Amino acid sequence: MTIRNLWNRRTFIGSASIFAGMMLNARKIFAFSGSRRTAALPEKLTGFGATGNVYEELGVTTVINGQGTMTYLGGSLPRPEVAAVMALAAEHFVPIVELEQAAGKRIVELLKLPADYDAIVTCGAAAGMQSGLAGILTGNSSKFIEQLPDLTGMKSEVIIQKSHRNGFDHQLRATGVKLIEVETREDVKRAINSQTAMMHFSNFANASGQIKVDEWVKLAHENQIPAFNDAAADTPPVSHLWDYANMGYDLIAFSGGKAIRGPQCAGLLIGKKELIANALLNNSPYEDTLGRGMKIGKEEIVGMVKALECYLNEDHAALDKEWWRRLDSVSAEITRVPGVATSFNVPDVANHVPHMHIAWDPRKISLAPRDAAAALKKGKPSIVLGSSESGLAMNSFMLKPGEEKIIAEQLVLLFKAHSA
Ligand SMILES: *Cc1c(COP(=O)(O)O)cnc(C)c1O
Repeated sequence: MTIRNLWNRRTFIGSASIFAGMMLNARKIFAFSGSRRTAALPEKLTGFGATGNVYEELGVTTVINGQGTMTYLGGSLPRPEVAAVMALAAEHFVPIVELEQAAGKRIVELLKLPADYDAIVTCGAAAGMQSGLAGILTGNSSKFIEQLPDLTGMKSEVIIQKSHRNGFDHQLRATGVKLIEVETREDVKRAINSQTAMMHFSNFANASGQIKVDEWVKLAHENQIPAFNDAAADTPPVSHLWDYANMGYDLIAFSGGKAIRGPQCAGLLIGKKELIANALLNNSPYEDTLGRGMKIGKEEIVGMVKALECYLNEDHAALDKEWWRRLDSVSAEITRVPGVATSFNVPDVANHVPHMHIAWDPRKISLAPRDAAAALKKGKPSIVLGSSESGLAMNSFMLKPGEEKIIAEQLVLLFKAHSA
């Protein structure tokens, strides 16, 4: 059975024993011998999960996701191969630190990173930001590692462009540092002092700050300060996985559970060898560390390696074409309703995938965009799209095959119901 068939089967047949099915398929995919297995996996689930829909059993409605890789909706759907290796990982005990180091080595090879780079799997990009900065602050000093977030004796400031401030810098502040906001190059010069630990860049804000991604790292290095790039949601394109290391960034964080379709609770921290080693010292499984609460499991670590391997092997041009085809097919249906118009865009960085904006003439269709989104969410099946003052917004890269047809049908019904 091909991977594509497996994916379709999992999503559409919804068999009564998806987990068992997955393991049976894992056996087929990897052709691994039964004799080396230590744990007996159930061929069929009884009790919770027996229906094949754990969410329905808990009374939680699943949604068709036309909004994208949103953590609040569960990020992305891990590739079946990722789920399969995670199940394999769950069959053995293994020293986690050794596993992190070995996975990092494999990731460096997969991404062909520069020789002085290493990587660890964290429980998300946000965790990578916190542990990466913690490692810069503490070095390998066990005294400092235990002391965080009390910064006595350590550097205490991180420079960030004002327009790059967002909710994720809470993870930086959690180490105890003070964020120093800058706007101009002059501001940066004035802000740098003996307490400056790091210069932080939020990749998706590249366009909104005066200092762009390539200049930021240069400014940092001219002043012997490490530079961090939060590129959490910045694949595709796949090349971003190595672009920022090649640019010289000392640390870079990616989400594993977004477009890479790795485990939801995984992320990638790549960077200079010593900084990666010190980031790990500040993270689980080490105790009495700031990062002990950000536990990463053996399953997520190997799942992330597999996800990267699959992502690198993906036919990205074909995927992009398919995402456009889905949006075009929805557009073709809904623009047949008088007054409905669509337009398209691809954000430069962060969610660099096709997006469609759906607007309508209020004289022909009497429906506020917010109410349209709420009605879709309440519908059966439940559909989540973005909404703004000017209309609805959707993308198609997190849709399961065929869901674009359901979205088109529901939108047409909704618009017709509110047509004059
Ligand atoms: C999603 C996101 C994060 C957090 O990533 P997780 O993998 O969910 O921890 C951080 N920064 C930006 C810009 C993001 O989009």
